Amino acid sequence: MFTPGLYDVHAHLADTRLDSELPDILRRCASEMQAVLVNAARQSEWQKVLEIAKHPRMYAALGLHPFFLHEASADSLAQLERLLESEKQSGRLLALGEIGLDCWEGREELERQKNFLRAQLELAGKFSLPVILHNRKAWPDFFGLLKELRLASLSGVCHHFSASRQICRQALDLGLYISFCGPLTYPQSNRLRELAKYVPAERLLVETDCPDLPPQSQRGAQSRPWMVEEIMRCLAEQRNISMFALQEQIAVNWQSLFVE
Ligand SMILES: [Zn+2]
Repeated sequence: MFTPGLYDVHAHLADTRLDSELPDILRRCASEMQAVLVNAARQSEWQKVLEIAKHPRMYAALGLHPFFLHEASADSLAQLERLLESEKQSGRLLALGEIGLDCWEGREELERQKNFLRAQLELAGKFSLPVILHNRKAWPDFFGLLKELRLASLSGVCHHFSASRQICRQALDLGLYISFCGPLTYPQSNRLRELAKYVPAERLLVETDCPDLPPQSQRGAQSRPWMVEEIMRCLAEQRNISMFALQEQIAVNWQSLFVE
């Protein structure tokens, strides 16, 4: 049973920028965090993510991020399927992530991204795992792909959500959770804070995207999972609820998405 506290649904602890500090990070997380979902971006991180997930409070998400598909092949997908099969019973592997569509650099790559996303959504369905989604400038293509796959609902999280309220509504209607990170705390992020009030309590999650997107007080530095506290304080203030009430809600949401 998960208890109220700090939950980070999206951290890249296998990132090589954290290598020298990783033992300290794991130690501090074991005492200060309730849970951290360590997301993989590329195949070369999968084993390391699984190793990290053996530590207290650590959990794993495995997947292929749209930025790193030049490193991926059909064999990567077969390997992912084998790992999901062998690790699913461990209780530490909670999701496929991070996966999605990113049109930031133009549409040429998008067909390739769609092929990998389609395959990974099929794996998520096969193993009954939620997905951690990275979608940017490609939401219509994402919704179109779900339609093509005849998926009227989807279990998972929109990580670092920053799209419009209308897209937020569509994501909520599919059953997705909405996760907020460091930029929520930036002075100029008024639109994002409005959105943070709009999401129903039972669909909220929070994250750091460690080591990126530090909250306001840490700008210019790297983020760490425990900095999710600053993001939660901002979120609690926006929603006019106590920090403890938000911690309770996030614990319930984590439980219903990943455990029940
Ligand atoms: Zn990420």
